[in-house]
Amino acid sequence: MAPRKPLVSLDTFRSRTEIDRQADSLTGRDLSVLEVIPRIAKAHLLPMWTYLVLSFAAMFVVAATTGAIPFLIQITSDKIVVEKDLASLSVIPFAVVAVMCLKSLAEYVAVVSQAYISGRMNVTLRGEVFEALLRADLAWLQRSQTGRLLSGIFNDTSLITGAAGIGLVAIGKSVLTVLILLATMFYMDAFLTVASIVGLPLVLVFFRMQRKRMRRRTKRQMQEMGDLTNFVTQALGGIREVKAYQKEEAEKERVVDSLQRTLEFTMQVTRTQSASGPITQALAGIGIALAIWYSGYRGISGTMTPGEFMGFVTAAMLIYPPLKQLAQLQTSLYGGLAAASRIFPVVDGIPVIRDREDAVEIDARDGAVRFDSVSFGYIDDALVLNDVSFSVAPGETVAFVGPSGAGKSTIMNLLMRFYEANSGEVFIDGTNVVTATVASVRRASALVSQDPFLFDDTVRANIAYSREDATDEEIEQAARMAAAHDFITELPDGYGTSVGEGGGKLSGGQKQRLAIARAILSKSPILLLDEPTSALDNETEGVISRVLHTALADRTVIMIAHRLSTIQQADRIYVMEGGQIIEDGTHKALLAKKGKYARLYSQAVAS
Ligand code: ATP
Repeated sequence: MAPRKPLVSLDTFRSRTEIDRQADSLTGRDLSVLEVIPRIAKAHLLPMWTYLVLSFAAMFVVAATTGAIPFLIQITSDKIVVEKDLASLSVIPFAVVAVMCLKSLAEYVAVVSQAYISGRMNVTLRGEVFEALLRADLAWLQRSQTGRLLSGIFNDTSLITGAAGIGLVAIGKSVLTVLILLATMFYMDAFLTVASIVGLPLVLVFFRMQRKRMRRRTKRQMQEMGDLTNFVTQALGGIREVKAYQKEEAEKERVVDSLQRTLEFTMQVTRTQSASGPITQALAGIGIALAIWYSGYRGISGTMTPGEFMGFVTAAMLIYPPLKQLAQLQTSLYGGLAAASRIFPVVDGIPVIRDREDAVEIDARDGAVRFDSVSFGYIDDALVLNDVSFSVAPGETVAFVGPSGAGKSTIMNLLMRFYEANSGEVFIDGTNVVTATVASVRRASALVSQDPFLFDDTVRANIAYSREDATDEEIEQAARMAAAHDFITELPDGYGTSVGEGGGKLSGGQKQRLAIARAILSKSPILLLDEPTSALDNETEGVISRVLHTALADRTVIMIAHRLSTIQQADRIYVMEGGQIIEDGTHKALLAKKGKYARLYSQAVAS
């Protein structure tokens, strides 16, 4: 029989195991308070200064009205209870109502404006992170898992804005309230005040110890949340494979294990955060006990009125809730700092591929392409392209063929400047792409990748993704050229039909044709087609091949194809192997050469 689990485990309340985690792609250098706070204040808080002023004013009213309460209690005891003064009895209840109403109203304004400040900051910070991700280098993005980035945008930024929100309330309300109450207490009795806060320095030492722990634990909590989001996005993204290989149970276990670890890390954070409460509470007990003892003693000996006694004890009791809030502030602050240390480096991550200061615009009209002794490796020196040179004249159609992994798609990656060559140069219309603006380089070419992506939008919007100002006629014309118009008109809402997530409601061949239409619609003079017809039947493939040679004759077309039938009419064919061009020529010339191409072709014909 399995051992029975205790109803409540002591382990819930203490952090014993330290499950360590390795650094992930978002783990950066620990930023200091001085690096983070001015940055947040300048970029996210100052633009909302009117709301800040409003919320601080409201918090000041809350603090001031709280400070008035001990006085009201004092007057009530002395004037009404002891002196039995009827005039005070008719005034004080109204004063109490007025103070409480003002306090409630101010609290409402403070809470709503503070929530708006935090919410707005969430909008600007998340927007900033998302923009940084969109601008990041492809190489970096491919190394960082999508789930982690998602978790960064949503979870890590919440911690930052949460800490900023709590920070504002703490500064605005708690600090003010503590100061006003301290002033009240000092005014009532200075010696007693010192006696009741004598334990405060001890708490400050304890808080110092908590900071480091908080930072470390928050970091682990966020890393685990990143893993969790990653497991979920991967399982849902690959749901066909999960189902086909019956991996539901394994995926569930992976996620539940991660959830379990997230719980442990979250509990560690909560324990650290919550420890500050009881410590302040205990101090409060000692302080209030001292206050009661000493003021009671003075009351008995006749040096203090009952009203003064009541008023002071009330102030001493009121001062601890805001002190507790201040205690929690520092733990939230260090949680927020841990999050900022992950997020800000992403925002600041300057892409390697960016415009140089003297970058020029390529006004690509002709679409001439030239590779001059280009060598390139995705990982340092492991060359994927080795001394590749070729040129394509405006309006030419050239094709690259060769075994898988030969480096064909890499040529397109360099032409789009998704990556930069280790050595050698890539030219578009005579301009070296690294000396041009990234945007103008990318405008020059329209890419149809191997696995084209469609957005969860209408057919029309997906085609027009390459040119937002395209008219319906232009969209339809591009669809006709890509042999897509007929199947589109058969869809339930024609061009207005939604294609589903990733184009899931369409077949592979239909997706390819929409992607080709999208590329045709763009005004780019160069078309990069990476296996654009792999999922098409022979007839549709023939239609598209003809279009490329007739209607699109003025555009430069660079095409990769495993099906050699697609490329026979190309002006020139480059045969690649091991990152090098080993043969080139027309289909006929290459066949006559009886080399690699001829072998590939005879294999294709035989199969
Ligand atoms: P296929 O016909 O299968 O598409 P290909 O000829 O287009 O192949 P490339 O995609 O250019 O080949 O890849 C060339 C080499 O570069 C391969 O060995 C591949 O593993 C490697 N490679 C491609 N993309 C990356 C990347 N992002 N990071 C690291 N290596 C990569």
